[in-house]
Amino acid sequence: MSLTVLKFGGTSVGTAEKILHAAKRVIEEKKKGNDCVVVVSAMGKTTDQLLDLAEEISPKPDKRELDMLLTTGEQITIALFSMALQQEGYTAVSLTGWQAGIQTEAIFGNARITKINTKRIENELSNGKIVVVAGFQGITETGEISTLGRGGSDTTAVALAAALNAEKCQIFTDVTGVFTSDPRYIKDARKLSGLTYDEMLEFANLGAGVIHPRAVEFAKNYRIPLEIRSSIEQEEGTIIGEENKMEENLIVRGVAFEDDITKVTVLGLPNSYTSLSTIFTTLARHNINVDIIIQSTTEENIANLSFSIKTGDLEDTYAALENNKTALNYDSIQFESGLAKVSIVGSGMISNPGVAAQMFEALATDQIPIKMVSTSEIKVSAVVPAGAMLTAAEILHRAFKLGKVEHPSA
Ligand code: ASP
Ligand code: MG
Repeated sequence: MSLTVLKFGGTSVGTAEKILHAAKRVIEEKKKGNDCVVVVSAMGKTTDQLLDLAEEISPKPDKRELDMLLTTGEQITIALFSMALQQEGYTAVSLTGWQAGIQTEAIFGNARITKINTKRIENELSNGKIVVVAGFQGITETGEISTLGRGGSDTTAVALAAALNAEKCQIFTDVTGVFTSDPRYIKDARKLSGLTYDEMLEFANLGAGVIHPRAVEFAKNYRIPLEIRSSIEQEEGTIIGEENKMEENLIVRGVAFEDDITKVTVLGLPNSYTSLSTIFTTLARHNINVDIIIQSTTEENIANLSFSIKTGDLEDTYAALENNKTALNYDSIQFESGLAKVSIVGSGMISNPGVAAQMFEALATDQIPIKMVSTSEIKVSAVVPAGAMLTAAEILHRAFKLGKVEHPSA
């Protein structure tokens, strides 16, 4: 008998009615003759509400207690979901992370799964039960309850699919799949039938929030095909896998964008071996995530450095640099806020030169200034003024023919 892991996100289980509806989706799968393991998130905005509640008690709550609190969200959903399945006449059992044998590192708030002891789940499945597992949580070796980081239920689902040798892993959510761009802003955006793991990783890391990046990494490492699909609509979703033949000819698969970016420029650094490491170690110690980095040497002994950060980190970045000015030994710093990052992603870029050129040309035609650029094998990102972000995204979406029109297959 083959096994399907079905994961439902917070919005898909946000009310009793939605839980009943989601349970029916599981039953459809069960009726096909497949064993089913269901992974659920906390209902709706529960996790956020629990975080707010904790903050009312303490501005910096103890991490162990915070995990103890947050994991209650998923525990509510598993019980209700299991009841919904039973109400429809199916035998089901709900399991918390530790009951499901999900072991993690001894870290609170952002633990990685280290091992899954599948015995309990396998026993329940062999008794014909549908097993409903709480996402986002596990247990450390010393028996403490831990969480996997925000959005971690996706990772629970993929990890269980790997450990149980599932045939497939379906992620049910409030969108019908992964789109060529955000359909809320880019009218012509089209649902993709397939994406590679690497493309999805780029999209997930670029903030296209459909799936947790760590879940995609896991799926890639264990070669688990993922399907992202709607919990409401019946239509097929987007398959994430090794390759996708259907859209082979598309060099660029999508356009992602995010605003609230600030460019930081550090002028007059000594051009020494240690300058960069000192600066970035300082920023890392302050938990500041740096994205694009550009260094240039103007005169022999002087280097200038620019990097991009999220605007939310601006104050911390300023403090970290100013407070360590003597040690870092720079002349001055400049900040430019009100920027955005627009990126094109597609694995066809590896073998097709000129994609970046085409991107810059398209942006130049509409006189969109490019402040910074970064590339990977399958991505080109450009930092542009935030006011031009959507125009830039639209231009690129059109330039790479990503819209709803049919693509010539040559
Ligand atoms: N409930 C958790 C969160 O909101 C985990 C998840 O939904 O994946 O982040
Ligand atoms: Mg999620």
